[in-house]
This record gives sequence, structure tokens and C-alpha cells, in this order.
Amino acid sequence: MATIELKSLTKQFGQLLAVNSLDLLIPDRKFVALLGPSGCGKTTTMNMIAGIESASDGEILFDGNNVRTLPARQRGVGFVFQNYAIFTHMTVYENLAFGLRSRGMKGPEIEKKVTDMAELMRLTDRLHWPSARLSVNEMQKVAIGRSAVTEPAIFLLDEPLSNLDAAFRAFMRTELKHLQHQFQQTMVYVTHDQIEAMSLADMIAVMNLGVLQQYGTPIEVYNRPNNTFVANFMGSPSMNLLDATIGGGDGSTRIEFPGGGQFEVNDEDLLRRCKSATTGAIKFGARPEDIALEASGHTGDGVKAKVNFVEPIGPRTIVHLAVGEEIIKVVVPKGSGFELGSDVKAVFPKGKCHIFDAETGNAK
Ligand code: ATP
Repeated sequence: MATIELKSLTKQFGQLLAVNSLDLLIPDRKFVALLGPSGCGKTTTMNMIAGIESASDGEILFDGNNVRTLPARQRGVGFVFQNYAIFTHMTVYENLAFGLRSRGMKGPEIEKKVTDMAELMRLTDRLHWPSARLSVNEMQKVAIGRSAVTEPAIFLLDEPLSNLDAAFRAFMRTELKHLQHQFQQTMVYVTHDQIEAMSLADMIAVMNLGVLQQYGTPIEVYNRPNNTFVANFMGSPSMNLLDATIGGGDGSTRIEFPGGGQFEVNDEDLLRRCKSATTGAIKFGARPEDIALEASGHTGDGVKAKVNFVEPIGPRTIVHLAVGEEIIKVVVPKGSGFELGSDVKAVFPKGKCHIFDAETGNAK
């Protein structure tokens, strides 16, 4: 059992509020990603959980017990850093056995755990190599393995894959998920890579400037961003965010774009959210993969646009459209045939449009 609860957790470095009154409940045996841009306070939060950075204020509870003043070595957490931390003068075997020995474990038990871990991490053929001979990718596998093998109830990983090459990162994402299923640990994972967070985590905590922006499952965070920061941070290409106003009359409600485009809102959920907007000015959001492109003669709802740039990216093509003064991106399957300069209609599908307050950026 290892539930982690952060209550009003705060870290101040001089005048800088690196982590600002963070409340977060990390359930037992869940994989939680702390996600955000560089400097948002992810590592500082992680270091406070580990006990290698003291908190300025707030509480850190492990299974209900406040550990805030407990030294790192007494917190019983495993930690893996961005830069592999292994003993390069030892063999892989000795590295994997190190933590077990220091916990007083004896020969046969160590042997079993080390060989099992080597198999899990696909290091069996390297077990008796000096670690200095390993590639950077393999060294990081050893670093993860030597921490995981001690089976800490809480496993903290700070950007462990960011120094690895792209193919190996993809491979290790799967391995980490297997590791967590096998050991049933509570994992906290720091990353600035939203794809990594989406693919690995049960829950994602999105942070910006030391403040938690949203905490939810990957699908919740992706489908229902709390604000324009989260909307923009999640997804590649990111969500289109357009200045717009809510207008209408004669019983209709319309989203109107400053450049002249508009469409009638006929989706109950969007209508309700339009009504909750206190001013007419909003940010209108739609994900590139949610927008449909139709030929300009299309008679249904939609906004007139001109193809401004076509960006093929293998299986898909990103089509850039000029909508009045603004540019939006739409993802279509490859070979969809939208030519540069052609007139099209962008259709915003039901249930997939977002409305944010123009001033605060908060979702409606
Ligand atoms: P990165 O991905 O770049 O590591 P991060 O989201 O993990 O970013 P932190 O490393 O937690 O962010 O840093 C949060 C803020 O606190 C940053 O502005 C950073 O410069 C500052 N900071 C971190 N450690 C210290 C320190 N020891 N002294 C002063 N400021 C610090």
C-alpha cells in the first residue's frame, strides 16, 4: 500500500515560488505523470516527495502519515534520474544486487531477484559485463532495474527516458508499464513530453509556473482541458484556439470569427456552454484531428477557409487553413487531395468544440 497525498505543498526559492500550494492525491498502485514545460516545478515536487528537497510549507502524506520531515533514506522510495546513476566500475549483476545487499538480503534470494530483473529488463546477456561497457540506453535500463529490484512501494522517475534515442524511448515506455504491472508500485513520473505522459500514465497532473492546471486521466485531460494552457500543451499539433464571439438572434446561437466566418451552434452541450459565457468574447478551440474538411460547395454548417500550406507527415497530412485573419491546422489522412490555395469549408463536429473565457482562459 502506498498512497501519496500532497496538501498545499509549497516550495519557495528566495522570491521564486517554484511549487505553489499543490494538492494532489496519488492513489495506491497508480502511475501518475507530472507533466509541464521546463521550470514548471515538476522536479521540485518530485524531490520533495523523495525527501531530497525540503518543503517550504504543506504536507506530504504516505498512507496518511506525514513524512515531510522524514529524511530521504527513511521514506523507502525508489528514485531514477534523467542521467543514469549506476556504478560504472561494477558489473551489471553487482549494480542490480547492490540495493538488495544493503538491505541485508542473502545469496540465493539476491541471485533470483537479480536474474529475474535482468530478464525483465532484457539484460541477461549483459549481466557479467562491466557496466562501463554498456551503451547509454543499457545504462539507463540498469539504473531503472537497480532501483526497481528493491521493490519500493513508491517509485519516482524523473525524465528517465529523455537522454535515450527515440526508438529506445518507445521500447522503454512499454517496459516501464510491464514493470509497474508486475511490481504494483505507486509510480510518479516526471516528463515534459505529453505523448509519454498520455501513453504511460493512469493520471496526469499538468503543471505550469508551479501551479497545478489539471489532474485527470489522459483522456479527461485531452478531451476536456480545464483551460487554454492545458488545451495547448496536450496534443500535437496542438488545439486550434481562435478569437471568437458568441452571437445570434431569432433563437439561434452562432460562433462568429472576426475574419467573417461563423457557424450555428446546434449541439446541446455546446449551447449550454455558450450560455454560461458571461461576455460575447471567447476563445474557441477545436483539435486538428476533430475538424472535418469539406469542398467549398458543401451546404451544411461550416466556416469558409483557404488552404494556406500543406504539410505531409507520412500517414497523415496537416493542412493549414486561413480562416479570416487566423490560421488553423487540420489533420487529414494522407492523399486527401486538398491543394494549396483551394477554397474549403472547415466543419466543427458536435461534441468536440471547446469554449474558453477570453480573459482567464478557463473552460466553459
Ligand atoms: P525542468 O524540466 O527544466 O527540470 P521542472 O518543471 O522540473 O523543469 P524545476 O526544476 O522543479 O522545474 O524548477 C522549478 C523552478 O524552480 C525553476 O524556475 C527553477 O529555476 C527553480 N529552481 C529549481 N531548483 C532551484 C534551486 N535549487 N535554487 C533556486 N531555484 C531553483
